[in-house]
Amino acid sequence: MHNTNDNEMTLIFKSKSANEGFARATVAAFASQLDPTLDELADIKTAVSEAVTNAIIHGYSNTVGDVHIHCAIKGRTIYIEISDKGHGIKNLAQAMEPLYSGCPEMERSGMGFTVMETFMDSLDVTSVLGEGTTVKMSKTLRS
Ligand code: ATP
Ligand code: MG
Repeated sequence: MHNTNDNEMTLIFKSKSANEGFARATVAAFASQLDPTLDELADIKTAVSEAVTNAIIHGYSNTVGDVHIHCAIKGRTIYIEISDKGHGIKNLAQAMEPLYSGCPEMERSGMGFTVMETFMDSLDVTSVLGEGTTVKMSKTLRS
């Protein structure tokens, strides 16, 4: 059943770190139509920030490509899909473990996926080596 309040948007931008705040703010602005609490909005912004940062620094390390974000609202739930066509992840189970970082020399804490999992209701990651990575997250907001 299609609810007239349901909505969606797509955002495509270059994998430059200058776009990280832009992407986070854009998703937050889109989510604001659900009248989220400040905590809910902060959770969404943090999760988006982690996924976009990963696409930029890991997906497209040393290269520039497109990062796609698709957001959908169904009822009180926001679905956010963030994808890159970058390097992909060799061992996804390992990459998703708390404290695991594929590049500890960059002084990353390896907590990005754990943060996304904690702040959103669901997290689903698919990745193909050499083809890219897609992160799907959802969160149902309080009514
Ligand atoms: P932090 O996010 O805490 O700064 P991190 O980015 O290393 O550190 P995670 O975000 O949990 O930690 O990601 C774990 C690892 O998964 C990364 O180090 C990287 O090797 C791999 N990874 C994550 N996202 C991508 C992506 N979009 N493309 C390729 N590899 C990725
Ligand atoms: Mg990360």
